[in-house]
Amino acid sequence: MTGGDFDLHTHSTASDGTVSPAQLVRLAADAGLAGFALTDHDGWAGWAEAALMADACDLEFIGGIELSTEEDGYSVHLLGLWVDPDHAPLRAECARLRAERERRARAIVACLNELGVELRHDDVQRRAGEAPIGRPHIAAELVAVGAVEDLQDAFDRYLRDGGPAWVPKYALSPEDGVALLRAAGGAVVLGHPGVSESRRGEEVSPELGERLVAAGIHGVEVDHPGHDDQMRRRWSSFAREHGLVATGASDFHGLHKETTVGCRTTEARSVRRLEERAQRRETAW
Ligand code: AMP
Ligand code: ZN
Ligand code: FE
Ligand code: FE
Repeated sequence: MTGGDFDLHTHSTASDGTVSPAQLVRLAADAGLAGFALTDHDGWAGWAEAALMADACDLEFIGGIELSTEEDGYSVHLLGLWVDPDHAPLRAECARLRAERERRARAIVACLNELGVELRHDDVQRRAGEAPIGRPHIAAELVAVGAVEDLQDAFDRYLRDGGPAWVPKYALSPEDGVALLRAAGGAVVLGHPGVSESRRGEEVSPELGERLVAAGIHGVEVDHPGHDDQMRRRWSSFAREHGLVATGASDFHGLHKETTVGCRTTEARSVRRLEERAQRRETAW
């Protein structure tokens, strides 16, 4: 990493990360970044705190959001950078996503109870606080009650896609997700296309990638901790072929994981290209 770089994908306690937005900014400053994007799942509750702290630390703050979309068993994560939090359709969709997450968390807890695991929804809810409930909150509660050894064990044994306590989540289609984030004024980046959290256990196919390009993504996250060399090469070529901005980011979720803020970065020049494209809001370039 060189000075002047950005980390374009991070999570805080405003979703399923374990550090507060303010702490995240301090970590970004310690890492020597020029700026970073806070991209919590389905909302922007952490933006105000992060922006304030970033200002004090002389860091550039980019308000972002991560939407998990789905098609045919593929999980496609989209990052919307600089989205307008006052955009009514985006607000409505995020409200729906949060409500659906809560319903799903209750269903997962019921499923775990049926499997003989004693867990209470209220405790999971307390853990999530104001944040949209994600499986990581349930995993943390499973660790707390001693039902599993650690977070990964919780996913391996119960919560993974297709696992014994898995309940599918309402999600937009990838193309609708791109359209919504674009309409909200965002630069849309296809997140970690090589990471296969989905039931399919496959990375985003080239065919789906092409359709996302047609739908109007502006960039692709080439450098991500979950990508090996081959994936980086493949998605870097994909970006070049389709005129997309290639990004790098940590997808930081907290100090419990090996990834650190700024362990993968995007150079300032690419950040400015993304910003320009978001401002143009046109389909072709
Ligand atoms: P959710 O948004 O509730 O579906 O939870 C998604 C989050 O759970 C992801 O961002 C990951 O942090 C985590 N996750 C999903 N699948 C796995 C897995 N197989 N192993 C570990 N973590 C996972
Ligand atoms: Zn997350
Ligand atoms: Fe993701
Ligand atoms: Fe993420």
